[in-house]
Amino acid sequence: MTNPVSVPVLARQPAGEPRWLRVALDVPLPGLFDYRCDQDVEPGLRVIVSFGRRKLVGVVVELAQAPSMDPAQIKTVERVLYDLPPFAPDWMRLARFAAEYYQRPLGEVMLPVLPPPLRKPSSYQGKRSGLGPVARRDAAQARQERKAQVAPDPAPQDEPQTLAPQASASPIAQPPALHPEQQVAVDAIAALNGFKPVLLHGVTGSGKTEVYLHAAQAVLAAGRQVLLMVPEINLTPQLEAALRARFEPIIGAGGLAVLHSGLADGERIESWSRVQRGQARLLLGTRMSIFAPMPELGMIVVDEEHDPSYKQQEGLRYSARDLAVWRAHDRDIPVVLGSATPSLESWQHAERGHYLRLALQNRASASRLPDVRLVDTRRLQMKQGLSPQLIEALGDRLARGEQSLVFLNRRGYAPVLHCGSCGWVSHCPRCSTFTVLHRVEGRSAYRLHCHHCGYQGTVPRACPECGDQDLLPMGRGTQRVEEHLAELFPQARIARIDADSTRKKGSAQALFASVHAGEVDILVGTQMVSKGHDFRRLGLVGVLNADSMLFAHDFRAPERLFAQLMQVAGRAGRHTANGEVIIQTGYPEQPVYQALKRHDYAGFARYMLQEREATGLPPYAYQALLTAEARELQQALAFLQRARDVADQAGLPALDAVTRYDPVPLRVVRVAHVERAQLLVESTHRPALQAFLTAWSAWLPQIAGEMRVRWQLEVDPLEI
Ligand code: ADP
Ligand code: ZN
Ligand code: ZN
Repeated sequence: MTNPVSVPVLARQPAGEPRWLRVALDVPLPGLFDYRCDQDVEPGLRVIVSFGRRKLVGVVVELAQAPSMDPAQIKTVERVLYDLPPFAPDWMRLARFAAEYYQRPLGEVMLPVLPPPLRKPSSYQGKRSGLGPVARRDAAQARQERKAQVAPDPAPQDEPQTLAPQASASPIAQPPALHPEQQVAVDAIAALNGFKPVLLHGVTGSGKTEVYLHAAQAVLAAGRQVLLMVPEINLTPQLEAALRARFEPIIGAGGLAVLHSGLADGERIESWSRVQRGQARLLLGTRMSIFAPMPELGMIVVDEEHDPSYKQQEGLRYSARDLAVWRAHDRDIPVVLGSATPSLESWQHAERGHYLRLALQNRASASRLPDVRLVDTRRLQMKQGLSPQLIEALGDRLARGEQSLVFLNRRGYAPVLHCGSCGWVSHCPRCSTFTVLHRVEGRSAYRLHCHHCGYQGTVPRACPECGDQDLLPMGRGTQRVEEHLAELFPQARIARIDADSTRKKGSAQALFASVHAGEVDILVGTQMVSKGHDFRRLGLVGVLNADSMLFAHDFRAPERLFAQLMQVAGRAGRHTANGEVIIQTGYPEQPVYQALKRHDYAGFARYMLQEREATGLPPYAYQALLTAEARELQQALAFLQRARDVADQAGLPALDAVTRYDPVPLRVVRVAHVERAQLLVESTHRPALQAFLTAWSAWLPQIAGEMRVRWQLEVDPLEI
């Protein structure tokens, strides 16, 4: 049987006696807000209140015995919303932790993580509420439902799983027999009792997914819920179909829910409320799903745990991976982090024994890992960016009827347009960056795009500086590479997958489907193609501009490059013999490339961790980044300087344990006419940094207000 959901018990109040509520609202002010309410209400319910002249949806955080200010000043809530059960205490704890750790007011965590209509008063006004029947449910009905929720219908968990009719109807539902390494991992996870982070380090194609599914199956069969997080939406259709086929016999047709930003509002609410009510037992989702209320959560899986898309890059800048570990700890359940190239943070935890490391060292199919060849481009006559070796290899695969992938992390036609006479280069009028030459999809017309602000402009007929009419594309992006390949291999069917070719809804799925169906010989793509896909006929991967990532300014650049190349290399030869990866580089002796050649993640991680330790960088230090935006760079820098001075003068806690660096302009200083600067603070002691940040962030709103600067504070930034 499942555990009953604990519903907080409301102290009996005589009818008519006011309840004093402390409510979290999505406003940039610290603290909770006092309201009164004359009906039954409990923490975790949402309410509509008036705030200034606006109406807002808020979350009731506490009931107070007495008002904390003059009762005459306290407004009464407009409406209590009963369309969802109250958020359970563990959800409230998660939100509270995220607010404290990421230094945001509680309301700026609790409300933004909800599906948008659930936090808009307009959804609940008038007849045409956007929520349909969900929002129109009245209180009585909601109460009944809540009672029912205390003893939910158990999933039919005791039935034998393999004999269910759905399972035999669909052949994919039959799990393959596990390989010994997989079995060891599944057994180790099943043996866990309570909280324990597991780092599942499995080479590409080792069958990590199968391990997740077996582990999840055990948890689902025990009547608990599972959260399975993946980095990207374009991965979910394949996996979703597999999950449905595998688990329907155990959890029923409605037992799976998905959650990601590509869903329509209605679908998102549907998933959200089904997991919150315990109707959905398995949630598959992107980073946002870490905030889904799951009253019977029994395990969390984070696939490709190193992936930067687990980090939210605006608003509440949380790491869904880190929150997953916290949430698992709070609920005392296992959390499985899987990757072929774990983040150095997770790897270090495993090295120190904080995480249980399980390894899958062999590919699950009969194939070996691909051979990695480094082609030194310094001594080569390149043809439009392609080495003779790569061209020959592409030709060979084509002749054998195998697919190839040409990977290039740069979309568009060419990164810049330039004038050969005077050296003019195309740049964005709104940003301090170049504009990228793009071919208009499906036509031979060109435009200039800014990838930072979205600006688009026409291609000038002549150089704006010297009037020369010979403007030339410099370098190459995916569109241009696709064009060259079509010239070189006129008989080949070539497809391109990048953010431009997949702009239309559903087009990414369609393109991937045609690759999987064998309708494509050569695929050109950005990192969009590198993740997760299990291509059956792909034998060769060629990597074009890897070096451009090698010397990026960020100290995480080599780590990220290694992960990306390992991922993309891992697409080669998953089900074919003689998989091969050709990396074109001018720096083949670099440790990143040498480690890739040997498939040696562990060696690379050891090398990187030594370097990080020697230079005092994460994971040997904890960081936070204060970023300021203003019309003028000077303003932004002055704000940061003042913020730094305040820290010294006000004698903030842990000052001597926290290094405050100088304010500096961002590498791309101006975006859409706004100039940006940042200030890094760092400590080897996480609690010290936290104590400092909490005190410091209390000062910032006032300084920013006086100096008319927008700011944000990011804890554990991924990019500096
Ligand atoms: P990873 O996520 O580790 O890169 P996948 O989970 O995509 O690898 O698995 C790679 C391939 O191996 C898939 O086609 C999968 O169906 C197959 N596979 C996984 N486990 C087994 C197994 N035990 N026996 C046979 N095939 C397996
Ligand atoms: Zn010129
Ligand atoms: Zn721009």
